[in-house]
Amino acid sequence: MVPSRSSILSILVVLLLSPFIVSLPIQDSVVQSSAQNLRFTLPSVPKPEFIFTPLQESHIQAVVICSKQLGIHLRVRSGGHDFEGLSYVSEIEKPFIVVDLAKLRSISVDVKHNSAWVQTLEQGATKILYRWQEIADKLDEDLFIRVLIQTANVTSQGKRTIATSYNSLFLGDASRLLQIMQHSFPELGLTRQDCIETNWINSTVYLAGFSNNTPPEIFLQRTNLLRAYFKGKSDYAKEPIPEKALEGLWEKLFEVESPTVVFTPYGGMMSQISESQTPFPHRKGTKFMILYSTSWQDARENVAKHIDWTRMVYNYMKPYVSKNPREAYVNYRDLDLGMNNNSNTSFVEASVFGTKYFKDNFYRLVHVKTKVDPDNFFRHEQSIPPLPLHMR
Ligand SMILES: Cc1cc2nc3c(=O)[nH]c(=O)nc-3n(C[C@H](O)[C@H](O)[C@H](O)COP(=O)(O)OP(=O)(O)OC[C@H]3O[C@@H](n4cnc5c(N)ncnc54)[C@H](O)[C@@H]3O)c2cc1C
Repeated sequence: MVPSRSSILSILVVLLLSPFIVSLPIQDSVVQSSAQNLRFTLPSVPKPEFIFTPLQESHIQAVVICSKQLGIHLRVRSGGHDFEGLSYVSEIEKPFIVVDLAKLRSISVDVKHNSAWVQTLEQGATKILYRWQEIADKLDEDLFIRVLIQTANVTSQGKRTIATSYNSLFLGDASRLLQIMQHSFPELGLTRQDCIETNWINSTVYLAGFSNNTPPEIFLQRTNLLRAYFKGKSDYAKEPIPEKALEGLWEKLFEVESPTVVFTPYGGMMSQISESQTPFPHRKGTKFMILYSTSWQDARENVAKHIDWTRMVYNYMKPYVSKNPREAYVNYRDLDLGMNNNSNTSFVEASVFGTKYFKDNFYRLVHVKTKVDPDNFFRHEQSIPPLPLHMR
């Protein structure tokens, strides 16, 4: 049922009876407040009729019940980081409303005062990156080194080169880190000066892109330094990517202004857990995960150009990454992998993207979904579908 505008208004009236629920008429500023991908704030993108910001759990129940009774589609937003904006944009069902959990954010974390060393340095060598691919998933379990690959200007005339930054987090002391690196990855040339000694919470500030002495309280301001218009895609590598193929990738990075490729190592503890133990299946045999993304800051940019670029890079990388299925990281959601067309989700269509994100766990997730939400109330373009009626 497509609700009329009067039924939408009645939702607002019902909810206003509760003194705790803040109901906001649609203003771009509210939509934008937690939209981490500015691509979904553009005027052409559908906006919700209302955004509800509950202050306690019972308010969420009220929104869900109203939405259900009135048959108006609901989206749920927490941090708003979804790569495809699915927590606050519905392309497939309109009108829709959003319940935004921004005001329900009391979290207590018991942080042990661990020591950590973080290091970064700039290098430009494909050879070193090749070497990283061989060892990154086999390093000491307390050592994580990811590689950020971007372009950098080398002349004022705009000539560009590839810059690779090795971002690392090590849970241990600097001398032990230097020993491990000397033994496993001497090519990187790590020195004591590259290491910053800090506690764990301050290392998260560093990894979020803030300068060294920024207090962790900065997180309370919910500032995202990476907020931009962007499109991302992901892959999993089971084997090192040959140097020649990496050089071909570098050429492609010069075709857009702000490309970023991130290689994130897997292995270690992640590969000691069986594929079926949790929904997340990318375990033993996975060397690293790849993020391809392009970002821009000007709302007038041609979005299609950027989306086409990510598709071109993704096609280029096909021979070098996982197959059958070509796996993907669900946190880097990508609607190119397939989508539900409307509330009548097709189990077969959903299995295309579902098995990329979850491999065989997809089928178990379908069973869970069938049990807890058989009517498919909570849904979006890439939600897990319940089993079709004839298969239950
Ligand atoms: C700049 C940036 C950097 C990122 N970096 C990383 C990274 O380093 N590593 C990584 O793994 N991921 C990263 N991500 C991806 C991010 O972790 C995922 O998109 C994650 O799902 C975001 O959660 P959220 O609550 O912010 O998102 P939202 O957009 O609010 O929600 C994501 C999905 O969860 C649903 N949802 C939200 N709250 C609830 C709820 N309470 N109950 C049920 N469903 C809910 C939403 O409807 C939506 O489908 C990054 C994203 C951005 C934009």
